[in-house]
Amino acid sequence: MGEARQRAGQIGERAALLGQLPPDMREITDRLSAAFARQGHELYLVGGSVRGLLLGQPVVDLDFATDAEPAETKRAGGEVAPDSIYTVGEKFGTVGFVFGDVIVEITTYREEFYPTPDRRPAVRHGTDILGDLSRRDFTVNAMALDAHSGNIIDPFGGRDDLERHVIRAVGNGVDRFREDPLRILRALRFIAQLDFSLDPETLAAAREMGPELERISRERIASELNRLLTAPAAGRALELMREAQLLPYVLPEIVPMADDTGEGRHKNIWLHTLRVIDQSPPRLALRWAALLHDAAKPMTRSIDDSGEVHFFGHERLGAGIARRTLRRLKQERALIDRVAALVDLHLRPAGYDQSWTDSAVRRIVFEAGDLLDDLLDLVAADVTSARADRQREAARRIQGLREHIQRLREQHALDQLQSPLDGNELMEIFQRPPGRWIGDLKDFLRDMVLDGTLEPGDKATALTEAQHWMAENG
Ligand code: ATP
Ligand code: MG
Repeated sequence: MGEARQRAGQIGERAALLGQLPPDMREITDRLSAAFARQGHELYLVGGSVRGLLLGQPVVDLDFATDAEPAETKRAGGEVAPDSIYTVGEKFGTVGFVFGDVIVEITTYREEFYPTPDRRPAVRHGTDILGDLSRRDFTVNAMALDAHSGNIIDPFGGRDDLERHVIRAVGNGVDRFREDPLRILRALRFIAQLDFSLDPETLAAAREMGPELERISRERIASELNRLLTAPAAGRALELMREAQLLPYVLPEIVPMADDTGEGRHKNIWLHTLRVIDQSPPRLALRWAALLHDAAKPMTRSIDDSGEVHFFGHERLGAGIARRTLRRLKQERALIDRVAALVDLHLRPAGYDQSWTDSAVRRIVFEAGDLLDDLLDLVAADVTSARADRQREAARRIQGLREHIQRLREQHALDQLQSPLDGNELMEIFQRPPGRWIGDLKDFLRDMVLDGTLEPGDKATALTEAQHWMAENG
């Protein structure tokens, strides 16, 4: 290809690329570019924003790299009249600007160095954009778009890898993963988000450096796992995690499940789990529950006289595994509770059929509480039978349960699944101090509501029932 044609191609592409920015981002970029140029400074769009632009995906925020020092960046950016400037990242060279809904971060060229292998990378000033790009993790993240000229700088073949849908380390994977082992998980996270594959050499490097993940803080690991799990191709990334023998360092609790092939006696638990994850809506607690719902199957397997395989109690044991796993990863309390409860409950709705009474349905709704939507979605995703008739049958039953719940909702039969009389009212009525009796009595009245023998909110009948109960138990 002639040089002129190549240049023309680049110019056409430049206009196309910058033109793909939404109008507000386009205008901010043009004005920043002019301000930095006036001060004699370079300015490049970098990282995820360039990747997103090239993929034609919506760009959420703008990340720039520059040779300007933070003080100069503040001055140049200030000329563009941002709504506010934030400087929390200043010691790492980052100045942030807010323009309406658009967040812009501008970072002085950096090159990382590694004081000791067990600490987070330290940072020092880089000299130019090439140096800055060369310290980045993957080729698809190591491109820059010159805000002045619109030229793309792509020293490591990031565009080819984007086209081939490949995540590949910049330079030598083993070295890059040794510098910062978290990059191993970042690779898998990008694979989950972009539905890419992993370059074979990078995969081999990840396998070799996997044990190094043990020196990464649990919080950083958890944050990548959360992003991986809620991404579209989570199943693919988890299978790569298994292939690269990373599970012992990332999720040791599921190693028995990942190793369990079923030996032809029952379906492969691991492959089933990956499908359940991919079939679940991408909500965090739900995806974690999908990952862990059968984690206790390898430990609970039994085979009865007729040769049938059972996993009695795996939901209860699995809830414990979920709790341990998420606690180890220092996840938030609310998430731990949700996931453990979902795993614990995951078999309940599956047994639904048309013979279920209103009160049985009310009980499930009550026990699931605000987990109900997640629980129903989990149970629906848990159907992975290869047989179409079984698939259809299971889908029909879950749909039946949804409709039954909807029917009860419309009859207001799910509005107040609680004792019509609260603790204060009971103390007042019986003139007794607080104590265990209140909880027991409220449970008794609530159970009557669930059973349908007491109308929600019927305080008069509740009072008579409470008096009977007190006569016997009080
Ligand atoms: P997104 O923000 O959509 O998750 P991103 O590519 O912007 O994707 P960030 O974590 O925001 O990812 O990082 C921004 C850029 O900084 C990356 O594209 C990459 O170039 C670089 N980067 C981030 N973390 C690392 C790391 N641990 N090692 C090397 N480069 C990194
Ligand atoms: Mg980003």
